[in-house]
Amino acid sequence: NGRQNIIHNIATSRHKLDNVNFKESHFKEIFGSNVFNESVQRERLSKPVFKALQRTIKLGTTLDAAIADAVASAMKDWALEKGATHFTHLFQPMTGLTAEKHDSFLSPSGDGNAIAEFSGKELCQGEPDASSFPSGGLRATFEARGYTAWDPTSPAYIQENPNGSTLVIPTAFISWTGEALDKKTPLLRSMEALSTQAKRILKLFGKDCSKVFTTVGPEQEYFLIDSQFFFARPDLLNAGRTLFGANPPKGQELEDQYFGAIPERVLACMADAETQLFKLGVPVKTRHNEVAPSQYEIAPIFEDSNLATDHNQLVMEVIRRTAPKYGLAALFHEKPFAGINGSGKHNNWSMSSDDGENLLNPGSTPHENAQFLVFCVAVIRAVAKYPELLRVTVSGANNDHRLGANEAPPAIISIFLGDQLQDIMDQLEKGAAKSTKQGGFMEIGVSVLPKLPKDAGDRNRTSPFAFTGNKFEFRAVGSSQSIAGPNTVLNTIVSESLDFIATELEKVTAGGKNLNLAVQELLPKILKDSKKVLFNGDGYSEEWHKEAEKRGLPNLKNTVDALAKIVSKESLELFAKYKVYNEAELRSRFTILCENYVKVVTVEAKLTSFMAKTMIIPACLRYQTEVAGAVATSKAAGVEATTSMELLKTLNSQIITLSTAVAKLDAVLAHHASGEPYDHSKYSRDAAVPAMNEVRAAADKLEAIVADDLWPIPTYREMLFIK
Ligand code: ADP
Ligand code: MG
Repeated sequence: NGRQNIIHNIATSRHKLDNVNFKESHFKEIFGSNVFNESVQRERLSKPVFKALQRTIKLGTTLDAAIADAVASAMKDWALEKGATHFTHLFQPMTGLTAEKHDSFLSPSGDGNAIAEFSGKELCQGEPDASSFPSGGLRATFEARGYTAWDPTSPAYIQENPNGSTLVIPTAFISWTGEALDKKTPLLRSMEALSTQAKRILKLFGKDCSKVFTTVGPEQEYFLIDSQFFFARPDLLNAGRTLFGANPPKGQELEDQYFGAIPERVLACMADAETQLFKLGVPVKTRHNEVAPSQYEIAPIFEDSNLATDHNQLVMEVIRRTAPKYGLAALFHEKPFAGINGSGKHNNWSMSSDDGENLLNPGSTPHENAQFLVFCVAVIRAVAKYPELLRVTVSGANNDHRLGANEAPPAIISIFLGDQLQDIMDQLEKGAAKSTKQGGFMEIGVSVLPKLPKDAGDRNRTSPFAFTGNKFEFRAVGSSQSIAGPNTVLNTIVSESLDFIATELEKVTAGGKNLNLAVQELLPKILKDSKKVLFNGDGYSEEWHKEAEKRGLPNLKNTVDALAKIVSKESLELFAKYKVYNEAELRSRFTILCENYVKVVTVEAKLTSFMAKTMIIPACLRYQTEVAGAVATSKAAGVEATTSMELLKTLNSQIITLSTAVAKLDAVLAHHASGEPYDHSKYSRDAAVPAMNEVRAAADKLEAIVADDLWPIPTYREMLFIK
């Protein structure tokens, strides 16, 4: 049968595993070699042009047209030397993926020949006919067209391809009326807002810096399975996750995979992908086996949030494209396999001044500590005030299978500080008591904080938002999601807190009060209101769910519950105030996310019905026929048919259960919910999801009794363990 053929093929296939050779070209030499980065710019641009471009990149000043022409021309020459034939404006529509349309450099010269051309205008602005991207009503096709605008803060690069390489220009995607049609624009706006507010705080501490930016290091989890299994599963192929599959006898219980030796074929694939990423200037740093069988992680060194977001998209894209070369398929879905861990993306986040000072680093002098406490308390206040907005950013039909499922953080947003920092905050809040656990004294601006541990000993994997020494780690983000959304919200809510704190401190210090004293008075007040969000215990436990409810923390259990918060009054006000999303932009995102939820669930529901009817039920009926034959033969031969008769009855009744469940699912699919997209999403959640689960439960039971040679789709025990 097909499955046995696949297994045979895998066992006998030989993939070329030595495509990269670090002896020939070490990553020191190839790193950034396909990027139009600062050193290439310095080399290829005249001094004034280089300086103007750098000012634009570092300070956000606008670039004048003559300079854009000079930059474009240098970029084109560089790209042609690298074998590029085309250029593209890469943008990030609200699908959460990236989009590109290639244009060739070719331009007819009028005498029957052609020349390569690339103007400043083509560099700065493009107009893709992108009317098929979701806009949530922002952009009726006949109204405002969208255009792409060059983002000079994310460098252009060459996407290598033996069939002609492409110069890729990262861009923002905006409607002609100025509304953001993408994920990059709001992120850039939120970074701007945070910079403005953080600079006010730094100014109070006597520091003048020109820019503060947020930094992000996303740890990316994913699965790699043999591509033959992948192609034999319509659910993996079309929905990215298995909609059927009995629990394998061996899952992840032995915990023998975590940090284990990486299989050779997987290692070859990783090294190949990493080589390409090095060339693209993506600073990937770590790789290891994750908890679930066939699950892995790749993590880069942190960068500014905009670049980190672009680079994370590249990491996913490059791995996805490289895997087939090794006969593998990469799965970025949040929950490709039920019953074992799903995949997430730990979003490590901090703030940094342009001279490189990490503003969440405790530091070693009282002065530094006071500043650290202000920034840290600002984050605590932000998460306490807007937990629902943070929750929304990690919602989605895929991540619903993961959040709160005792493998990923619960849907309740809380902060883990670790014992020592928690103790400091407790002392701070009480105001009076000044001794810390270490026996020292806690007086802002006077005493030194104890050194906070950054080691793994102080980790709490059950917390969605954890302080880890000099950064916060937002762990609820899904593996396939763009990190733009979570960071946009994080930046905005922290901006609001910094704004609040700066305003208070400016007021009292203007009246002559000493800054340290002002901080010492303000922070306890904030902590009193915000401490409900601090929790150091086990986030998976039943007690925490009760306790969280008592504390009044929201528990938005699924995407549909969460989505409604996007258009809440406080959300509309907050994002408008910091000019990150206007009302129309927020409403469009609400619509898109509702529609997306419905589409994902509907595709899965259709696939479930299709696979049950055309693959699983036929296999079951074949087996039933076989067993019925055994019963008849036994009886004819005059022996008792007890065993086969029992089996036949069990089979018969379970096939009926399955068929009934499928009929119910079909009825759900045939019914179209009326009302707004939000009503549709409720219907999908309340009717389609349970109906699908019922079909799966019945089918998975049958998988455990039907003859193995008749089972039509690769099983969990094969997909996860045959490497
Ligand atoms: P872990 O033990 O969780 O792997 P690491 O210290 O290796 O912790 O960091 C994980 C990620 O956090 C890496 O991508 C790293 O670059 C990133 N990171 C470290 N410092 C910062 C920072 N200041 N801002 C944002 N990300 C950071
Ligand atoms: Mg981590």
